[in-house]
Amino acid sequence: MLKLSGEVFGGGKIGLDPDVVRGVAEQIAAAANNGVQIAIVVGGGNFFRGAELQQRGMDRTRADYMGMLGTVMNCLALQDFLEKEDIDTRVQTAITMGQVAEPYIPRRAMRHLEKGRVVIFGAGAGMPFFSTDTVSAQRALEIRCDIVLIAKNGVDGVYTADPKVDPTATKLDAVTFADALAKNLRIVDAAAFSLCMDNDLPMRVFGMQGPGNITRALQGEKIGTLVSA
Ligand code: UDP
Repeated sequence: MLKLSGEVFGGGKIGLDPDVVRGVAEQIAAAANNGVQIAIVVGGGNFFRGAELQQRGMDRTRADYMGMLGTVMNCLALQDFLEKEDIDTRVQTAITMGQVAEPYIPRRAMRHLEKGRVVIFGAGAGMPFFSTDTVSAQRALEIRCDIVLIAKNGVDGVYTADPKVDPTATKLDAVTFADALAKNLRIVDAAAFSLCMDNDLPMRVFGMQGPGNITRALQGEKIGTLVSA
């Protein structure tokens, strides 16, 4: 299970940068062509984040639905560039929209993976007050992924403290869920973290900037930081 935040798709800006999406798709295609079964949860922060819109006066639940719809646009862009790489792809959304995607059907998603298709999950959980981080953990558990790979923009793993604030912070090769919690290392949001911890699902946090890093992580290379029980 690969979690790509919306930030990745926007190349740091609002909206979508097709060149960036193409690059990400090429890396995913390389791993898919090597036989890796790949599911992806896509964020939407490059369009809307419900909590931010709420601060500017919008109703939280409506804003969250806007956030979820944003993730679907990212899914379609990624699907498009994966198909240009000749990778069979299916998008499944948690909010039904038959013209653009399949509904989320876990068994069907598993079947797609077995057939070598890349499955992209959009619209989060279909519920306000959730995040796509949490959805990546939930979907990974439900369709039995081996690991959740968290691609980060601008940081290459988990550090002993926030490296932007504390210059003495050092990168960890591995950390337990318990340690990460005790030291308040914010890797993903708390709900995602507790799902992984409670169900013994390992996570690898890595920086997507290095050449081929997404392919390497998907192929099981030990880059970034492993977070496990
Ligand atoms: N969202 C939601 N429920 C979900 C997933 C997402 O309400 O199950 C909304 C929420 O407003 C969130 C936005 O969609 O801020 C975009 O998702 P997220 O912030 O997780 O994207 P990322 O930070 O990964 O780009």
